[in-house]
Amino acid sequence: MTDNTVEHRRLIIAGTGIAGLSAAIYAARSNNDPLLIEGDEPGGQLTLTTDVENYPGFPEGISGPELINNMKEQATKFGAETRNGVIVDVTKEPAGHFRVELSDGDVYTADGFIAASGASARTLGVPGEDELMGYGLSTCATCDGAFFRDEDMLVVGGGDAAMEEANFLTKFADTVYIAHRREEFRAEDVWIDRTMEKVEDGEIELLLNTELTEIHGTPEDGVDHVTLVEHPDGHPKEKFDDPATADEVREYDFDVGAVFFAIGHTPNTDFLEGTGVEFDDDGYLITEGGRGGNQTATGVEGLFGAGDVVDFHYQQAATAGGMGVKAALDVDEYLTERERAGELYEGEVDAAAADD
Ligand SMILES: Cc1cc2nc3c(=O)[nH]c(=O)nc-3n(C[C@H](O)[C@H](O)[C@H](O)COP(=O)(O)OP(=O)(O)OC[C@H]3O[C@@H](n4cnc5c(N)ncnc54)[C@H](O)[C@@H]3O)c2cc1C
Repeated sequence: MTDNTVEHRRLIIAGTGIAGLSAAIYAARSNNDPLLIEGDEPGGQLTLTTDVENYPGFPEGISGPELINNMKEQATKFGAETRNGVIVDVTKEPAGHFRVELSDGDVYTADGFIAASGASARTLGVPGEDELMGYGLSTCATCDGAFFRDEDMLVVGGGDAAMEEANFLTKFADTVYIAHRREEFRAEDVWIDRTMEKVEDGEIELLLNTELTEIHGTPEDGVDHVTLVEHPDGHPKEKFDDPATADEVREYDFDVGAVFFAIGHTPNTDFLEGTGVEFDDDGYLITEGGRGGNQTATGVEGLFGAGDVVDFHYQQAATAGGMGVKAALDVDEYLTERERAGELYEGEVDAAAADD
């Protein structure tokens, strides 16, 4: 151990979102003594939302923070420990254990590691965004669409996610508008075709060469309207910000009751680069998947992945929780086998303790 090494743990879990906490409940009950590092979003994405209506077992719905607090209490009851801190680097040491370094310089070592560090929805950084996130502005149509029945809704984006979200929202919306900064979409043909069918039916309207610059409303009453800019050659915001072209841009207010950002997610994986683990083209952690055991294993022995950091497709609380459970079961099998083989890392033996 180095001077900064705080302690050795059997298992460290990155993240206290629903995947990390679900893993912790199982890992603590299997005596794997998990330590969870919270990251800069303790509780994860669910703490950004008010009502969660689709998590099984809560017929009346439950608030995101309450669901997370309940899970944390359950994990703690079985002995899981949590600490503040952001992991900046993980490496696999020659002895087979992991070295986990935090941004404050503290270092932990661990025999097993579960990455449950989630994915952050990209946002635009426009005025109104911070105040209205969770109050009419959302990054998850599947989660929040049903709260805005019969309202006009605006989806921002031009890729698969935007098409998929817009199509989904037609179940609830009066009209769904898609604001896209260019003329052409970057989505798969199948999504474009489906969207164009709904455009013909009048359920979706396209606002091309258009960007959102401000969201207006209050947390009490939700979104009232948005400000949009449009230019026939696309990328209007850039042109609006340039005094040479600002006059060519049309700026206007547009009434909508809800706004959905669908401009992608960024998986939180920077701290894993030193492990040599594999990522897909979008940066998501690659796990075994498939059927049978070890679905959450990565190419690095002892390193498992769960939740939105792996799953670019479902990205739901229940699915992330389920993957957390799988990761805890997989890491338990791994640790049990290493223990049986006498290969667990004990950390540096404290000299005084050794003399006793
Ligand atoms: C506004 C909103 C509403 C939603 N509503 C619903 C809903 O109603 N129903 C539903 O099923 N799903 C909903 N979702 C989706 C759901 O929240 C996610 O699918 C789920 O939270 C994913 O869980 P996770 O544990 O994988 O990741 P996250 O919840 O993203 O948690 C990731 C955790 O990892 C930590 N972390 C990140 N980097 C590091 C690091 N370097 N070191 C240590 N820790 C780190 C973070 O701090 C955080 O604690 C919603 C999402 C959003 C954004």
